[in-house]
Amino acid sequence: MHFIPIIQSQTDFKLGDCSYLDTCHKISNCRYIHYGQIWDFTRGEPACSYLSCELPPQWINCDLMNIDFEVFGSDFGVVIADPSWTIHMNLNYSSLKDDELLSLRMDKLQREGLFLLWVTGRTIETGREFLRKWGYKVINQITWIKTSQLVRTISTGRTGHWLNHSKEHLLVATKGSVKWINRAIDSQIMISSTRETSRKPDEIYGIVDRLVGAGVRKLEIFGRQHNTRPGWLTVGNQLEGTRLVEGELIKRYSAWQSRSSPAAVGA
Ligand code: SAH
Repeated sequence: MHFIPIIQSQTDFKLGDCSYLDTCHKISNCRYIHYGQIWDFTRGEPACSYLSCELPPQWINCDLMNIDFEVFGSDFGVVIADPSWTIHMNLNYSSLKDDELLSLRMDKLQREGLFLLWVTGRTIETGREFLRKWGYKVINQITWIKTSQLVRTISTGRTGHWLNHSKEHLLVATKGSVKWINRAIDSQIMISSTRETSRKPDEIYGIVDRLVGAGVRKLEIFGRQHNTRPGWLTVGNQLEGTRLVEGELIKRYSAWQSRSSPAAVGA
């Protein structure tokens, strides 16, 4: 949470915080300090050129190795990808070889914007290299410190050869001019509990919203049903069917379907 003091003409700093905070009944003339969340200030404010109203959640169940990435669009302000990198562990979903992942046309998704790529221990360097090959500049990384049910850091991870894995990394990369991105709001660390296998913390969506502002087109690649959200297009092979509302997207998707399996669409 990020709180910003709301300074009004009557606010008297010497008095300190109002003990009622946001439940104060006299907020419009109370002389104590009240706060708003950063959310109240960034949401709804135009932050970049990709403006549109926030759409309901959209998703496409597809094999990313087969679909034409042009179907998704080329003007995302932000992309998150959580690929199933090949790791020495049995997962209950399919994984991709490094060269398969690299062959995905990530370069088509954005003219300018932010790309966030989840990497595992082995793939931190590979991830950096792939981002550069897709046309990005790696500028930073966010670390997720995993906590247990008892809100302690995890010391007995299920992965890790020499040391138990108690954290994961999200590489942060940019493409083109990203002057519209809000800087210096969040930190490089998320401290959050583990959930189902591979499930990432929801805090990332708040961080993204604060970075890119409202109305920016957002894409999640290798997403699952619980990742779907208003304003986001989520794609992956474990999603429940396909749900699209944007006219242009529906057109591109149907055109691709009829190109790839004309008989099935005609039937
Ligand atoms: N970030 C997600 C977890 C992603 S796990 C979360 O927070 O829950 C990776 C997902 O990618 C899995 O659902 C897996 O089935 C899917 N996947 C693997 N290979 C794929 C492919 N070729 N096409 C589409 N999805 C794929």
